[in-house]
Amino acid sequence: MFGIWGHTHAAELSYYGLHAQQHRGQEGAGVVVSDGEELKLHKGLGLVNDVFKHAGFKELKGTAAIAHVRYSKHGDKRRAVDSVEPLVFRTRKTSLAISHSGNIVNGEKLRDVLEDNGSILQTSTDSELLAHLIKRCKENTNEDAIIQALQQLEGAFTFLILDKENMYAAADPHGIRPLSIGKLGDAYVVASETSAFDLIGATFEREVLPGELIVINDQGLKSVRFAMREQRRLCAMEYVYFSRPDSDMNQVNVHASRKRMGIELAKEAPVEADVVTGVPDSSISAAIGYAEQSGLPYEMGIIKNRYIGRTFIQPSQELREQGVKMKLSPVRGIVEGKRVVMIDDSIVRGTTSRHIVRLLKEAGAKEVHVRIASPAIQDPCYYGIDMSTKEELIAANHSPEEIRELIEADSIAYLSVEGMKQAIVQERSIHQGICHACMTGEYPVPILDNREDPS
Ligand code: 5GP
Ligand code: SF4
Ligand code: MG
Repeated sequence: MFGIWGHTHAAELSYYGLHAQQHRGQEGAGVVVSDGEELKLHKGLGLVNDVFKHAGFKELKGTAAIAHVRYSKHGDKRRAVDSVEPLVFRTRKTSLAISHSGNIVNGEKLRDVLEDNGSILQTSTDSELLAHLIKRCKENTNEDAIIQALQQLEGAFTFLILDKENMYAAADPHGIRPLSIGKLGDAYVVASETSAFDLIGATFEREVLPGELIVINDQGLKSVRFAMREQRRLCAMEYVYFSRPDSDMNQVNVHASRKRMGIELAKEAPVEADVVTGVPDSSISAAIGYAEQSGLPYEMGIIKNRYIGRTFIQPSQELREQGVKMKLSPVRGIVEGKRVVMIDDSIVRGTTSRHIVRLLKEAGAKEVHVRIASPAIQDPCYYGIDMSTKEELIAANHSPEEIRELIEADSIAYLSVEGMKQAIVQERSIHQGICHACMTGEYPVPILDNREDPS
C-alpha cells in the first residue's frame, strides 16, 4: 500500500510508490485521488505499469491519494477487478476509499452479523467489511466511526483510508504487517515498505505502531490509539522472503537480517563443499551470509530470467511449476564437478527446491546440499500470506529426511527458530518481536473462525 497527503503530484507519486512495491502483489493495482471535492478512482488487473499505462493523470488531479497492489490470499482465485483495491464507498454523508493488507480472522463472523442485519457485501475483501462496519457506527465523525470499526477486527491488518478531509493509517494491535510513515517536503507519505520512500526521495519518519490510528490532514499528523498495544509480532516471512532487501521494518534492514540468517545457518548446519549459491533473488542475501561465515566462495550458480513474475503469486500449482521452469537456469561453468551448497530462503510447497536440485545436477554438480534460511513451514498462515492450508505445505506432511529424498538432495537442513529470531530481533523489548506461527504453531491472534481455510 502507498498513501500521500499534501502533494500536487499525488497520483504520479502513487504510481512510483506502487512500483517500488510491485513484488507485494501482481494481480491488480489501483489508486484513489482526492482533490478535496471528490474521490477519483483508477484501477485494473495486472502489473502496476499496465494498469497505469491507461491512467489519465490529468483526470487524476488532486493532492492526496491512497494506492494498492493486489495479492489474493487464501485461494481467492476470482480475478475480478471488483476486488482490486482501493475500494470506494459513497454515501449521502461522505465518501471513503479503503485499502487493506493482511487478513481479518473474525471476518466470517462479522460478515454473518452484517448480513443478518441487512448488509449485502459484494466482494470478499476485508476493506469492504471495514466499510460496512464504519457505516453501521452511529458516530458523528469518520474518525470516531473508524475507531469503533477497527475495534471489532481481529487478525492482521494495516489499513489506508481516505476521505475528502483526511488520510488515515492503522495497524493491528500486534503490528503483524508493516506500515511506515515518511515525509516528502511538507507532504506526508505512508507505505507498507520503505523501498517506496527511497524511490520518491522521501525520508522515513517512523512506523505506524501496533494499535495506532494515524490521522493526517492539512493541520498535520495526529496519533490516536484504538487498542491496547500488544507485544509486537511482525511477520517473520516479511524478512525471510516477502519484502524487498532495501526495505527496513521495525528498524531492521531486510537484506541485513537475511544475511544474518545465512550466517546463523552456516553455524548451525555447516557442510563440506566447494561453492555456495543462492536462488535469486530472495535467497542471495542469505547465501552471501552463509558463504561469509563458512569461508566458502559465493558463486552465481543459478540465474533468473528477469521477465518472469514471482512464482508463488500464480494461484494454481500447475502455473507455479511452469513459472519456476521458465524462471531459473543453472550456470554450468560454475557448478560442473562441484559440491554445491544451495541456499533457499524458504520451502513452502517444495516446487522450487526440487526443480533447482535437478537443474544443478543436470548441469553437472557432484553434490547438492540444500540449506534453508528459515525454519520449516508446518502450519498455515491466517494473517495474509498465501499459505492457508496444511495440505499444501510440504513440511507439514513430511520429515526433513523425506523432503531431502523428494527433492533429490544430498543433504538438507533448516535454520532453527532461535537462529531466525537471533537474525531478526535485534533488541528484546515490547516493540520488537516477530510472528513465527507458520513455523511454530504459536499464533499471536487466536483463529476464531476455526477453519483450515480462512477464505
Ligand atoms: P516452494 O517452491 O517451496 O513452494 O516455495 C519456496 C520458494 O518460493 C522460496 O524460494 C520462496 O522464495 C518462494 N515462495 C513460493 N511460494 C511462497 C509463499 O507462498 N510464501 C513464501 N513466503 N514464499 C514463497
Ligand atoms: Fe508471517 Fe508466518 Fe505469521 Fe503468517 S504465520 S504472519 S507468514 S510469520
Ligand atoms: Mg525464492
